[in-house]
Amino acid sequence: MHDERFAEVNGETAPSRFAAGDRVAVLLPLPLAGPYDYLVGADAAYEIGDVVDVPLGNRRATGVVWGAATGEVDAGKLREIHGPRDVPALPPALLRLVDWVSRYTLYPQGAVLRMVLSVPDALDPPKPQTAYTLTADPPDIRSTKARERVIAFLKDNPPLPGADIAREAGCTASVVKGLADAGVLASVKVQPDTDWPQPDPAREGVALSDVQRTAAEHLCAGVGKGFAVTLVDGVPGSGKTEVYFEAVAKALADGRQVLVMLPEIALGAQWLARFRDRFGTEPAMWHSELTGARRRDTWRAVAEGKVRVVVGARSALFLPFRELGLIVIDEEHDGSFKQEDGVVYHARDMAVVRAQLEGIPAVLVSATPSLESVTNVRRGRYEEVTLPARHGGADLAGVTVIDMRREGPARGHWLSPKLAEALADTFEAGDQAMLFLNRRGYAPLTLCRTCGHRLQCPRCTAWLVEHRLVGRLQCHHCGFQTKPPEQCPNCEDKDSMVPCGPGVERLAEEIQLLFPEARTVIAASDMVHGPKQAAELVRLIEEKEIDLVIGTQIVAKGYHFPGLTLVGVVDADLGLSGGEFRAAEKTFQLLYQVAGRAGRGDRPGRVFLQTYMPDHGVMKALAAGDRDAFLDAESQAREQASMPPFGRLVALIVSGRDEAAVDGVAAGLARAAPRGDGIRVLGPAPAPMALLRGRHRRRLLLTAPKGVAPQRVVRAWIERAPIAKKVRVQVDVDPVSFF
Ligand code: ADP
Ligand code: ZN
Repeated sequence: MHDERFAEVNGETAPSRFAAGDRVAVLLPLPLAGPYDYLVGADAAYEIGDVVDVPLGNRRATGVVWGAATGEVDAGKLREIHGPRDVPALPPALLRLVDWVSRYTLYPQGAVLRMVLSVPDALDPPKPQTAYTLTADPPDIRSTKARERVIAFLKDNPPLPGADIAREAGCTASVVKGLADAGVLASVKVQPDTDWPQPDPAREGVALSDVQRTAAEHLCAGVGKGFAVTLVDGVPGSGKTEVYFEAVAKALADGRQVLVMLPEIALGAQWLARFRDRFGTEPAMWHSELTGARRRDTWRAVAEGKVRVVVGARSALFLPFRELGLIVIDEEHDGSFKQEDGVVYHARDMAVVRAQLEGIPAVLVSATPSLESVTNVRRGRYEEVTLPARHGGADLAGVTVIDMRREGPARGHWLSPKLAEALADTFEAGDQAMLFLNRRGYAPLTLCRTCGHRLQCPRCTAWLVEHRLVGRLQCHHCGFQTKPPEQCPNCEDKDSMVPCGPGVERLAEEIQLLFPEARTVIAASDMVHGPKQAAELVRLIEEKEIDLVIGTQIVAKGYHFPGLTLVGVVDADLGLSGGEFRAAEKTFQLLYQVAGRAGRGDRPGRVFLQTYMPDHGVMKALAAGDRDAFLDAESQAREQASMPPFGRLVALIVSGRDEAAVDGVAAGLARAAPRGDGIRVLGPAPAPMALLRGRHRRRLLLTAPKGVAPQRVVRAWIERAPIAKKVRVQVDVDPVSFF
């Protein structure tokens, strides 16, 4: 039972050993066509999965023993493996995942392996440290209180680094050094051992309601019973996290490791606190902001089995768990699980594949599940547990649609009178409010009043966004920055540049005018840096030191603020322009999640949507609170159009600095396009971001009926088309974004 797209799982890799003189295939973490063959040297022996050093040209490279050699190279010409690295072998299921992801995404195995061996430093054991211990027969020396404390401490403790001894004994490091110089302490080398606090599955969780208990029992029953996928579908606040924590506890109690994947981990402060409440300690984290040392220690500890629970962003999928027993993908619908650079893969989908290869359950969690997952439930491939009500009673917020065509504000203002009034009521009642606007900065566009010239990024098809607080114009795609010009770069008119449209900073300005007393904070990714600041923001809101949060999508998920009773969506239409086939689904998910922030604790909340399209299906479904009707309609529309999950898509993005060369390759691909089996190829067409970081971009889109596995066709297609040097063809199987 799995998504039919993943039907073709490769067979077992027979584990085997290789001895001196054997020829083995070693996969290197490089974008090569496949593994290279090497010879096992005298007195050496390897197993599949061993991490080894090999010669590559005139340098040394690290790779993984992948199997018996396959090439035709003479034994005489093969070079010998240098030797093993001091790290546990990669587990078989992980090797198969690499092969699988490579075959599915059409990126080389070595490029996928590089995501596994992402921390080269972790392949060496930590460097030994100098530690001190008491000598057997110490000389007589003058005694001091501090010296006595050190000696007493070391009588009962193992050798420790000097700094640790000094801290424990309450003295300076020079006391320890003095004792060592005098011969009272001897220095020894020890392996540093990071202490990994162990989550305790036996601690009491919250007392679950009957519905929650049934759901938790269902998940727990699946742990240890092989592969299955369960969708946990429940409104925000229904207790989905508490429920899957029970399954985490079961897997831990069974002695297995657990992976929890979350989007945008940096903002998981509340999630971590919940985990700590349940398991007594925090899990290991895996995200882009880890320090190098922490990253190295964590990778190794996962490989050695010392870390039992990892919570991480999408790259955690490739960690070398050796005893994985459960994978949870929270907010499974979230677009950030799709990696768009390097190897283009969907971490949710590949997590399901890993679960299948490991023979363990996967749990997908969402209040707004993706149409893919919902369809898999409807076809009986995924199981489902539902949590229909909020815990503690409060109903979901009532949604009011504000028709901006009739009820909008005056020009140059962004808050309709209705929403402003609701804000006033909320502040008066001493409650908190949130305004949602998914646009960072002050204004998304700056233009010249005199000649109409618009400020554009020189390297991208994108307007420059004014960030007034830092006094810069920025490109949100490539990071280009510049000072706002004093005159129009085109007509040179002075003081003619005007901002158009609102970003969160501009909204804050309007709030300042309307509600000068309101304590307001802007929550956007360029204002909240890292987990510490995020935690501080959460604290400010929880302790009611803030009346109003003006936020982008970083506040849309996962937070619970009991005092928040009003949510205003400033521009509900923002995600609907552009015409991507998932636009309605994504907008519905985002707005539903945002609406879910209102009304916690025992009070229902109110949600206002400002829209110019009050009759759009998304607005109607939100107003009626009818998610399933929306999904039905969306599902039908997709089926009629043979769009995913009722059809297959593969995008090719052709890019390069030389526009003519890019067009040439794109045209060549179009001429070589595959036909038959219901396959169609659309394009080439300029990508919406026709220029990105100075590269010209063209897109082609292959569509296929849902029964057709497009990988082989696409591989052959690319091999037959002439691809000029310096032009890149990026393959995106199951595309999510179409930029
Ligand atoms: P979801 O993940 O569905 O949004 P959570 O699991 O985060 O829901 O629960 C929402 C809030 O309700 C959290 O603060 C959680 O601690 C609380 N909660 C949920 N279930 C219970 C319960 N059975 N007893 C006490 N508190 C609960
Ligand atoms: Zn740019």
